Amino acid sequence: MTETSRRERRDAIEGCLENLRHAVHCHDNGCTLPRCSKMKRVVAHTRQCRQSKRENPCAICKQLVALCCYHAKNCQSARCNMPFCGQIKRKLEAQELVSLYSRPRAV
Ligand SMILES: [Zn+2]
Ligand SMILES: [Zn+2]
Ligand SMILES: [Zn+2]
Repeated sequence: MTETSRRERRDAIEGCLENLRHAVHCHDNGCTLPRCSKMKRVVAHTRQCRQSKRENPCAICKQLVALCCYHAKNCQSARCNMPFCGQIKRKLEAQELVSLYSRPRAV
């Protein structure tokens, strides 16, 4: 990857994180930011999605968790309310990134 494309990719991720950060804190149902309502839908989805996030995450969850991983690696806040941030940080500390999304449930 060239230096430029790496930077572009990072900018794109940062942009998504900005949207996510806004959506998490935005409680205005009439918010007119188009990306806000989109992000809110994504966050709402991951909260109620029943598909295993480890074995077979759906595309939406996969994307959001990847985004949150990126955030969590740089996050210094102990009481951050970004989705998955606390979980990811604990896992990073435990070096168990692989089992990150595991939440075994009875079938
Ligand atoms: Zn908003
Ligand atoms: Zn999902
Ligand atoms: Zn965080």
